[in-house]
Amino acid sequence: MGNIKAIGFITIAQYISEYHGAEISEKIKNTLEGKDQEALFAKNPLPISWIDYGAYIRYLITADKILGNGDLKMAEKLVSYEVNKNFKTIYKMFVALATPTLLFAKTPMMFKQYFDAGKMSAEVIGKNQVDFKLADFPNVPLHHEFHFHVVFTELGKMAGGKVTEARHAKCLARGDEYCISHLTWSSI
Ligand SMILES: [Zn+2]
Repeated sequence: MGNIKAIGFITIAQYISEYHGAEISEKIKNTLEGKDQEALFAKNPLPISWIDYGAYIRYLITADKILGNGDLKMAEKLVSYEVNKNFKTIYKMFVALATPTLLFAKTPMMFKQYFDAGKMSAEVIGKNQVDFKLADFPNVPLHHEFHFHVVFTELGKMAGGKVTEARHAKCLARGDEYCISHLTWSSI
């Protein structure tokens, strides 16, 4: 099982509770399977606690169906809100001085802070193009790439770039040997 730090989940759950109300929050929670409810809510996690990455992604997909229309646009908005709220504070100094190329080169190091499994590498494959490869991550949840791609897009934006293409060419969840996210960006 691969875990992610709970900070993103906590930020989004708090946001939903505040802006959509307790009833909607409960509905999202109760729509999840028992094991996912348990993984996310039973231990009342701290921001630095580990939670199951699959349960977190399924939480976002469920929230998207209930708050949005199931096309993951709402889930992307929630992740974008969370990344801006949390990363901008933590990485403020670094991001202010970075270019997207530099920031994406450091992304595998940042990945290690947020995940307890998997090996991420970033390979520059051309001007303003990078391939992120993720290997050895157990139980990667299906459709998780929307989460990765929002994070990459927001990081790029913070460093003054605009991601113009994010494509998940390979995925562990689809039976490939590893995940590959291909990213292209331009300067703004
Ligand atoms: Zn994948």
